[in-house]
Amino acid sequence: MKKSERQRQFVQATIDLFRCPTCQAPMKAVVGNSVICQNGHQIDFNRHGYLHFLNGAADTEYGREMFLARRQLLTAGLFKPIVAAVARHLPAQSLRILDVGTGEGTPLKQLADLRTSYQDTMIGFDISKSGVTLATQLGLDAFFCVADLRQLPFNNGKFDAVVELFSPSDYREFNRVLTVGGQLIKVVPNAGYLGELRQLLYGGNQAKSHYDNQRVVALFKKHYPDCQVEPVKYQFSVPAGLQQALVEMTPLHWGKGARQLTAADLSQLTTVTVDVSLLLAKKMK
Ligand SMILES: [Zn+2]
Repeated sequence: MKKSERQRQFVQATIDLFRCPTCQAPMKAVVGNSVICQNGHQIDFNRHGYLHFLNGAADTEYGREMFLARRQLLTAGLFKPIVAAVARHLPAQSLRILDVGTGEGTPLKQLADLRTSYQDTMIGFDISKSGVTLATQLGLDAFFCVADLRQLPFNNGKFDAVVELFSPSDYREFNRVLTVGGQLIKVVPNAGYLGELRQLLYGGNQAKSHYDNQRVVALFKKHYPDCQVEPVKYQFSVPAGLQQALVEMTPLHWGKGARQLTAADLSQLTTVTVDVSLLLAKKMK
């Protein structure tokens, strides 16, 4: 089956999940190359086979090169222990899973690889067209789309789990689309995250060489007072030849005061620390 046909069939089979970004009415059907809402608004599948739910252009600096660099590191396993930790917190049953800020899609693919015993329905979205275009090419049995996390194109109470790795959040929207009892898992960097890279780029500048997640964690706890926080920390051996990709996969090297790294600098990046927290909460009512 052609990729675009598979995507259309996915949306037709899960049409109850989707709502119109223009009028918020539920989507009604896939007709030809379009999905149509109950009020007749229409969004076409583009030539990559995905739906673009944004009104206007995406506002993101995350381009194709960055996502390709990211894919190299993620395929090599940079985030695999994080994905495994996320998988451990998902219920052992078939789920409808929404991946927020899915990027080029590799973490969702790795999650799917850990959940082959279940018949999950997986949707990943990102504000970046470059990311979603690459994700659609993964051949994963999931649906990817371009959307804004502050205006999710999904109906109320439809997802059993909302997962997000290193993405901004809109808790009101997440609560809206989660089922009661649904699981929210947010992954945030801790102070030591990619510390070796930060050290090379920013040297002794403490404000830049450490990540401070206090505000993000505090906001999460304000929304979900009963949440759990689970640290995940490990060393990742950077495969030979991927040092430059490691630099390019994050926005760190654009930062003000970042040094231009030399080949000698890069050769020092043999291992990096991955230091994150899983923030875990359930939608209670
Ligand atoms: Zn509409």
